[in-house]
Amino acid sequence: MKWSWKLTRIAGIDVYVHATFFMLLAWLALSYWLVAGTLSAVLAGVGFILALFVCIVLHELGHALTARRYGIRTRHITLLPIGGVASLERMPRDPRQELRVALAGPAVNVAIALVLWGWLRASNGWVPPEQIGLAGGPFLERLMIVNLFVAGFNLLPAFPMDGGRVLRAALALRMDYAKATRVAARLGQGLALALGFLGLFINPFLLFIALFVWIGAAAEASAVQIKSALAGMPVSRAMLKDFSTLAPGDTLARAVDLTLAGSQKDFPVMTGETLAGVLTQTGLLKGLRAHGERAQVGEFMQREFETAGIDEPLETLLERLQAHDCRLVPVMRAGRLAGIVNLDNISELLQIHSALQGKGMS
Ligand SMILES: [Zn+2]
Repeated sequence: MKWSWKLTRIAGIDVYVHATFFMLLAWLALSYWLVAGTLSAVLAGVGFILALFVCIVLHELGHALTARRYGIRTRHITLLPIGGVASLERMPRDPRQELRVALAGPAVNVAIALVLWGWLRASNGWVPPEQIGLAGGPFLERLMIVNLFVAGFNLLPAFPMDGGRVLRAALALRMDYAKATRVAARLGQGLALALGFLGLFINPFLLFIALFVWIGAAAEASAVQIKSALAGMPVSRAMLKDFSTLAPGDTLARAVDLTLAGSQKDFPVMTGETLAGVLTQTGLLKGLRAHGERAQVGEFMQREFETAGIDEPLETLLERLQAHDCRLVPVMRAGRLAGIVNLDNISELLQIHSALQGKGMS
């Protein structure tokens, strides 16, 4: 995500924080200053939010480490003002596994709340909850209450909340995955409408959450719709057979000519009949900036790249494309280059597919 800074690395997962998160902190510090007017109030307020976000990182780690047990890696965790996002490479296909991954996050917050509760009881620090406001009362007790709130909020049965995934996984035990997603997304959007309606009367912040839920539900539904449209199609259906290749000894000028002459932006690089690398548009631009048009393709091509087999399911290829953030995949048949696939080919195929089916897909 742009405008994010790497904060730390935990259990092999990079944790990023988004710039808007600092705006939230600044806004909170300012509002505490305006209300209380003392530095200690500002520090206590900001400190509380930081402690809360530590709990949110632990929540995301709950998802990430449970997913790891099923062999799914997490690209990164990003902290946003609305909470955290763990970018898993994919969701488990088995609904029981998805259920566990989705529940692991809120379970972490419940566990934190239980530990804090035990501590407060044991240390006589417990104050009856009705005497506590968001800004008053013992720090640890407020943290306990907020953790329960985070767990409860995340269990709302709507995408992109964990509860949406829990609902989908529960439905998917009884029906097929695409249908379960459609039903869960529709319920989520219904909930978003209800939240938005309440927001009009109670708190405008609910409107913001409603919008967030609405968009999340629509995104999840369309991602799964794409997958189910691709189901059963092999890579060869989306493969480009008519394409240009380069040789390591070619100049970048030739790559520029080919780019301008056609619609291809990334090129397989061949040494005779063998595939030696891939020159992506990013690599080309980098080369042009550093050494100009006369530099050789071989210097700027990627030597490590993903390849696909001609019979591989498109669905798994799409997952790999997204997970590795790669533009072009050479398709191999019996060890030789048979074609190329990129995200554009797949999206064209989907458009054609949905036109043929007579229904829209965004
Ligand atoms: Zn979560």
